[in-house]
This record gives sequence, structure tokens and C-alpha cells, in this order.
Amino acid sequence: MTDCLFCKVIAGDIPGAIVHQDGALVAFKDITPQAPLHVLIVPRKHIPSLNDLSSEDDALVGSMFRCAAALAKQHGYHERGYRTVFNTNREAGQSVFHIHLHLLAGRALAWPPG
Ligand code: AMP
Ligand code: ZN
Repeated sequence: MTDCLFCKVIAGDIPGAIVHQDGALVAFKDITPQAPLHVLIVPRKHIPSLNDLSSEDDALVGSMFRCAAALAKQHGYHERGYRTVFNTNREAGQSVFHIHLHLLAGRALAWPPG
């Protein structure tokens, strides 16, 4: 999608600190990190929000979580712990309307979230 920030990062039109990419996913560091490790796991397919998922995306979403777990392990946070978050629409604070899984690790994370 031409007017989407994350489609532009995926296409290489906007620079991103990419930590993983494969045929379906690109993962890059969040530009405003909220934890020592803050990575966004993003499908190459443009899907605006979780509200737009269909059953054909089930494997894709599963692969996003498996990617998050692999990156957490790669960075040594799998035993300490980490958080994975999808924000959806206004009250959850979604600001980029191309789904992305936040991976946060490296500090104690409060619950409930703000
Ligand atoms: P959300 O608020 O859940 O939609 O998350 C969007 C995230 O994208 C925020 O945490 C932003 O800091 C992050 N972000 C915005 N622009 C960029 C960018 N160019 N590269 C990396 N992360 C970005
Ligand atoms: Zn997009």
C-alpha cells in the first residue's frame, strides 16, 4: 500500500533497523523504544488492524508470535521474560495501521498496562 509507513519500511523506501526478514515477515527496531529490546514484527502483507484478519491469515499470525519468541531467545530474554502486544484502534493507541506485534524485553514490565 503506497501510503503506509510500514509498507515503506518493508520496501526499503524508509530506513529501518532490520533484525530479521523472511518471505512473510520483516522485524525492525522500534524508533521510540519503550524497553531495552523493542522490536516490531510486521507481515509483508498489508493488513490494517486485527479487525481485518481472516482465517487465511492464521498461519501468518502464528509465525509472528514464533518470530517474537525466536528473537527473545536470540537476545537472551526468553527465560527472564518478555511481552508481545498488538494495539488495535484508538483506545489501545494504535498509530500505524499495518499490523505489527510489539516485542518488549529487558526490564520489568508493569501490569496492568497503562
Ligand atoms: P502502535 O502505536 O501500536 O501503532 O505502534 C507503532 C509503533 O511504530 C510505535 O511504537 C512507534 O514508535 C513506531 N514507529 C513509528 N515510526 C517508525 C519507524 N519509522 N521505524 C520504526 N518504528 C516506528
Ligand atoms: Zn502497510
